[in-house]
Amino acid sequence: MRRRADAIHGAESRTTQRKRGSDECAPRPLTYTGRVSDARTSTSYPESVQQLITELSRLPGVGRRTAERMAFWVLKTERKEALRLAEAITRVKERVRHCSICWNLTDDDPCCVCADPKRDGSLVLVVEQPRDLVSMEQAAMFRGIYHVLMGRVDPLDGVGPESLTLGDLVRRVRDPAKNARGVKISEVILGMNPDLEGDTTGLVVAEKLREAGVRVTRLARGLPSGSHIEFASRAVLADAITGRRDLD
Ligand code: ZN
Repeated sequence: MRRRADAIHGAESRTTQRKRGSDECAPRPLTYTGRVSDARTSTSYPESVQQLITELSRLPGVGRRTAERMAFWVLKTERKEALRLAEAITRVKERVRHCSICWNLTDDDPCCVCADPKRDGSLVLVVEQPRDLVSMEQAAMFRGIYHVLMGRVDPLDGVGPESLTLGDLVRRVRDPAKNARGVKISEVILGMNPDLEGDTTGLVVAEKLREAGVRVTRLARGLPSGSHIEFASRAVLADAITGRRDLD
């Protein structure tokens, strides 16, 4: 009897195994929970995963290995979280544009800085890139408005003044109707990066603006707060001495 019972039990087990085997053919939700290194042992990825890795590896500063880690984060994470990332990328590409006045990145035109009536529209700070504008805004010290050049003069890279938005800046200076809220510009502050290309760009911009008859200044240079003189470079010390000012 026991042998028969064992035989029946064994038969049931084989039936269960066959059943499980047939289930494996049906599509199943992704339940991968292993580490990236486990997945790397496979010889190749499915085509869709491979494509995701290829696209991610094109991001700045992302190598193949990091792209694989990102791809497996997408695979492991909840569907709604992964789609939120995809929607954010789509939204940025569909909605973000340049402000028609200052070239800042914005969802609405003009941008919130140009449209803000509490800001001084007569004072314009010129920066190289939108990220410089964001850094300035995070410092929360400047209450004027901006102009983004969208680059810098770099002869070695073949970038001349005509590649920048300098023409739009000159038009803003000459014609108040082209500036934010129709305000006449009284001062332009040069806020380029303090290096060779930044200085070259500053000279070109200053020359164009002087022709337009507006006051041109530039950001102060020298020793940053919290630094030590003994660690400062010669260029920084020279700037600090040249840019010295009276004590208030
Ligand atoms: Zn703007």
